[in-house]
Amino acid sequence: MADMNDLVSLCKRRAIIFPSSEIYGGINSCWDYGPLGAELKRNIKEAWWQTIVQRRDDVVGVDTSIIMHPEVWRASGHVENFTDPLVDCKSCKQRFRADHLSTERCPECGGELTPPRQFNLMFKTYIGPVEEKAAEVYLRPETAQGIFVDFKIVQAASRLRVPFGIAQIGKSFRNEVSPGNFIFRSREFEQMELEFFVDLKHDDEWFEYWVEERFRWYLDLGIRPEKLRKRAHRPDELAHYAKACYDIEYEFSFGWQEIEGIAHRGQYDLSQHVKHSGKDLSYYDDLTGEHYLPIVIESSAGVDRALLTFLADAYTEEEERVVLRLHPRLAPVKVAVFPLLKKSDLVEKARAIEKELRRHLVVAYDEAGSIGRRYRRQDEVGTPYCVTVDYQTLEDQTVTVRDRDTMAQELISIDRLLPYLKEKLDW
Ligand code: ATP
Repeated sequence: MADMNDLVSLCKRRAIIFPSSEIYGGINSCWDYGPLGAELKRNIKEAWWQTIVQRRDDVVGVDTSIIMHPEVWRASGHVENFTDPLVDCKSCKQRFRADHLSTERCPECGGELTPPRQFNLMFKTYIGPVEEKAAEVYLRPETAQGIFVDFKIVQAASRLRVPFGIAQIGKSFRNEVSPGNFIFRSREFEQMELEFFVDLKHDDEWFEYWVEERFRWYLDLGIRPEKLRKRAHRPDELAHYAKACYDIEYEFSFGWQEIEGIAHRGQYDLSQHVKHSGKDLSYYDDLTGEHYLPIVIESSAGVDRALLTFLADAYTEEEERVVLRLHPRLAPVKVAVFPLLKKSDLVEKARAIEKELRRHLVVAYDEAGSIGRRYRRQDEVGTPYCVTVDYQTLEDQTVTVRDRDTMAQELISIDRLLPYLKEKLDW
């Protein structure tokens, strides 16, 4: 199992993910994604967007504002209920979420804890130059509300008929009491959310459908089945309006943890916005002539949590190397090109191949150090293929293609290289 410290140190060493503002000493639980991390994150979002939006005819995408009208958060219940119970240790002054503790005394020093206080997780800021109550706004703690408030305009303009979905990827902010476990829980993160609107008769079917679809998405992208499970919420865990909820969980080195939630939210969200905005958000079914508020099935995944899942699952220590066995679709770099030696004729040829491949794939070029070292460098960031140009290349136009997982090498002629790679990468 990938030890979090090893993963964190690899991410730091290769500038995949590292603490934000580090030259100023960093800032607790804020993270920057470097070049490889940014590619990996894009690939995850792209895979989600393609599956959920582009390859379906019943889901459309939106990109809504992070700062919304403050009434949105009263309607959604976040102002009143989006709180965590907070306790402080009277001895060591550490702060904990009461619902995360299994003991009555401080888990750090055994000291006495204060009674729990409710702490709202939403970040506040001000609109305009005057810091007064009337100008107070929140940074969104979830992307979903942007979808609910735009439900009507998007449905009408796209001429969508139930069942249909609206999806969004974007940043969310939560002033978490105890962030941690690397990027697992941070205060600024990205979400990929789908709100799927269904009629009043087929809600259970659609709920089951989305639980299965979302579970399969992780498996299709290479997560080991024994590390992934669905967990139904107990009745006492469910929000009062929710009819059912499943968490998709992954077994990290710090235990089984939620990476995504799929919830049957009933008519709660739309009816709250009808109540607070005074606007009619009902859907008109022109077949039956009925007006009604659709039921919402929600899938809510964290981009950063998915990324940590893919990293942890891919991280493998072998005798002589560390290898990230990432699914080729997710791998930040698809192919690396090396000249065997730093000789001008080999370099020139390798550069020409790199240039051609770059038109189609994300490519790395490396001429520093032994071939063995260069392979290791690519293995640990998950590059599926390495292409080496040697003297034989100059004679017969073949290159050596080396596979990350099997380490097997194959001679391929340059004119077949791109189709070969595309097929292997399932591009
Ligand atoms: P928890 O109980 O762990 O705080 P939650 O049940 O409140 O989480 P949701 O509101 O269901 O979480 O959020 C949906 C998804 O958004 C989560 O499954 C997770 O992937 C992601 N997410 C939520 N909070 C964070 C965070 N602080 N950092 C990173 N990702 C997060």
